[in-house]
Amino acid sequence: MKKAPTRFYLSEDQMPRQWYNLRADMKVKPAPILMPATMKPATKADLEPVFPEKLVEQELDDETRYFGIPEEVLELYKLSRPSPLIRAYQLEKELDTPAKIYFKFEGNNTSGSHKLNSALAQAYYAKAQGLEGVTTETGAGQWGTALSEAGAAFGLPVNVYMVKVSYDQKPFRKSVMQTFGANVVPSPSTETEVGRKILEQFPDTKGSLGCAISEAVEKAVTTPGYRYVLGSVLNLVLLHQSIIGLESKLAMEMLGEYPDVIVGCTGGGSNLGGLMAPFMQDKLTGKADPRILAVEPASCPSMTRGRFAYDYCDTGCITPLAKMYTLGSGFMPSADHAGGLRFHGMSPVVSQLYHDGYIDAVAVEQTDVFDAAVKFARCEEILPAPESAHAIYGAIQEALKAKETGEEKTILFGLTGTGYFDMTAYESYLNGSMKNYIPTDEELEKGFASLPKVPGEE
Ligand SMILES: *Cc1c(COP(=O)(O)O)cnc(C)c1O
Repeated sequence: MKKAPTRFYLSEDQMPRQWYNLRADMKVKPAPILMPATMKPATKADLEPVFPEKLVEQELDDETRYFGIPEEVLELYKLSRPSPLIRAYQLEKELDTPAKIYFKFEGNNTSGSHKLNSALAQAYYAKAQGLEGVTTETGAGQWGTALSEAGAAFGLPVNVYMVKVSYDQKPFRKSVMQTFGANVVPSPSTETEVGRKILEQFPDTKGSLGCAISEAVEKAVTTPGYRYVLGSVLNLVLLHQSIIGLESKLAMEMLGEYPDVIVGCTGGGSNLGGLMAPFMQDKLTGKADPRILAVEPASCPSMTRGRFAYDYCDTGCITPLAKMYTLGSGFMPSADHAGGLRFHGMSPVVSQLYHDGYIDAVAVEQTDVFDAAVKFARCEEILPAPESAHAIYGAIQEALKAKETGEEKTILFGLTGTGYFDMTAYESYLNGSMKNYIPTDEELEKGFASLPKVPGEE
């Protein structure tokens, strides 16, 4: 048999021209998001002051199976897509496994992550609506960078609230965003009411993603012609990220392959949601039954130890509420946590499918994640983002299991990005100072205590 290529690229004209909306095939739909003032399901009119119109439509649409990708977005996708499907021959050899390991590499753009897939779509719709600009938050910096790139591409001003700890630790991330013309503000800031309030209460705080979200939303709704955009969690983001799965599935078909296991890291759930989408469709419609595995950090274990409940998406409790696996919007991961994926909640789509038994989840300690990252880097010559290394860890575990059982299974995982801006974390791993931190049940209870009471929910 002919050996499969190491790097497999679709051609430009084989690229999918539509995004796939997984919700259309879900028997149990994700619960509707609720407006905080009324605790009633959000309507189009409720959300349009916050998000661009077309994105609101996509967010609320559980029925339309395919959405056409606008030509302008497709043209820009072509600057970094189709992304390669890579067979990890060297890693297979190192692990001495009979398993075939494939990964979809999304790090081949300046943001160093899959986030550009949604950033380009969101910036396009904002511009098409004639908006003056958008606001957002960024933690590790990939989303802020992706949106800055997209803003530059469409001539749309971008305001980024960057979590202060990242702003201080990753000054070059800020410079990259500024290169693309974005305005970058460390969060919490004195620019917003919620920022000022948090600073008053916690003057030394280094910020959090939840807090930066509150600031970005406030800024958007108080600035004429501005809207807020978000890089993960929302249904609309998973819709755009389906490009990852659609390309993967087509490429694997062309290679005569179908994955037995699909592995993704989970922060807010967007890359896993996108990668698994067409395979989950097969699962939901009874065509195939691949195992879908979510890998999350043990220090921020929203799926494996969280509650399935309505919660705010931000610390300031001003966003709509989503029904999701959550640690509580008041939860803050330990300061020792370096591996990203620090959001307290999980995408409602991923949460519902996990709740209904279609997805498995594991939580991993960060030194194990960096072990996997280093092993992978040395074999495959790509420096992975720490987030992505969670998926690498999961894939390696699956490959080692196959070695034990002698099973020739096919593994597909999402390599979401590169880790050039994460060398502080790599350094602490390499010099042995990296610590693992697993929150105790008591600590998690504190986060759960912040869960809002929602009428009709137990
Ligand atoms: C943001 C990010 C993630 C996690 O976000 P998801 O929404 O769960 O996909 C993973 N990897 C990289 C490189 C990221 O930038």
